[in-house]
Amino acid sequence: MAEAGIDAGEFGAWLTAMRAALRGESGTQVPCGDCRGCCISGYSVKVRPEDLGARARIPDHHLLFRGGTVIMPALPDGRCPMAIPAGCSIYAHRPQTCLDYDCRVFAAAGIDAGDAGKGVINSRVRAWRFSHADADALRQHEAVRAAAAFMREHHQAFAEGCAPLNPMSVAVFAVKIYALFLQRDVQAKPPRIIAAAILELAREFDERE
Ligand code: SF4
Repeated sequence: MAEAGIDAGEFGAWLTAMRAALRGESGTQVPCGDCRGCCISGYSVKVRPEDLGARARIPDHHLLFRGGTVIMPALPDGRCPMAIPAGCSIYAHRPQTCLDYDCRVFAAAGIDAGDAGKGVINSRVRAWRFSHADADALRQHEAVRAAAAFMREHHQAFAEGCAPLNPMSVAVFAVKIYALFLQRDVQAKPPRIIAAAILELAREFDERE
């Protein structure tokens, strides 16, 4: 039996909020309900220097220190070390990485979050249902999906080492550069031209203040 849909909100508003979140301006307020999929799906959590509350509560033996980067890897069974049956043991002090995670980005891009290890998240991703306030929002959504599909199908068209490969990279790139796929004739261009334009637009997005 198909899982009932879950309201993901209005697409245009979500896209605006997600792009702001990717620029570090604000979060997207994910309606997680009782889902804790991202806490049990094998993700490593980056702990930033400003995550002082989290850093004070996570025992050092759960952390990896790589140069200036601090990572909390998942346990062998995929659970975050801070996960408890009721949710997160440091919820009020969870790292910004956790606050920023929004699995609706996969639904927006029309892709799964990953392989079998991401099964719980994939169920949620497939259940999200965006609404569209107008034709522009619908076109934006179609462009995000077309961008993700292009990156999936033409990763070899990208310069070596530059192709977005994992699902999160593909979905985030799609949100950043979807405007390219609003152009009617874009898909008529050679894939390597489109791939170069994607990388350029993503670079401009990241550099914009
Ligand atoms: S720190 Fe808390 S919110 Fe973040 S992944 Fe772990 S259990 Fe989930």
